Amino acid sequence: MGIVYCGPYADLIDSYDHEGYADRKLPGGKVGYVARCSCGWTGSTLFEPSEDGREAAGDEWDREHLQPLISEAKRAWHRWADRTGGALQNVANLVRDRQFGHASRVLGRLITELETRQRVVEGLADGRDE
Ligand SMILES: [Zn+2]
Repeated sequence: MGIVYCGPYADLIDSYDHEGYADRKLPGGKVGYVARCSCGWTGSTLFEPSEDGREAAGDEWDREHLQPLISEAKRAWHRWADRTGGALQNVANLVRDRQFGHASRVLGRLITELETRQRVVEGLADGRDE
């Protein structure tokens, strides 16, 4: 059982692809805990083989891997807005060119994206832990 981030940015970082855990199985016969993520990321520290070590490995995953993912998602709002604006221009061009089916598919994708972004903002407005 690992740790899965459930905060407002969960959807944007695909948090279920980043389940963190303290791993005891180490190559080379060393004993201890190392931080790992289900995406393949591995921490660089070997922690002592105790409950404290296990917790420290979880903390390392949070600090060195999860928090940078969240920070990147926080910084990406304007890039997302620029991309989305471009996609909306594309929809206008498609409608102008009477490619209504294509325009509808692009709009459907955008609506899904906007709903995701709305959930993030609602989570932030509710003051949920970031
Ligand atoms: Zn990960």
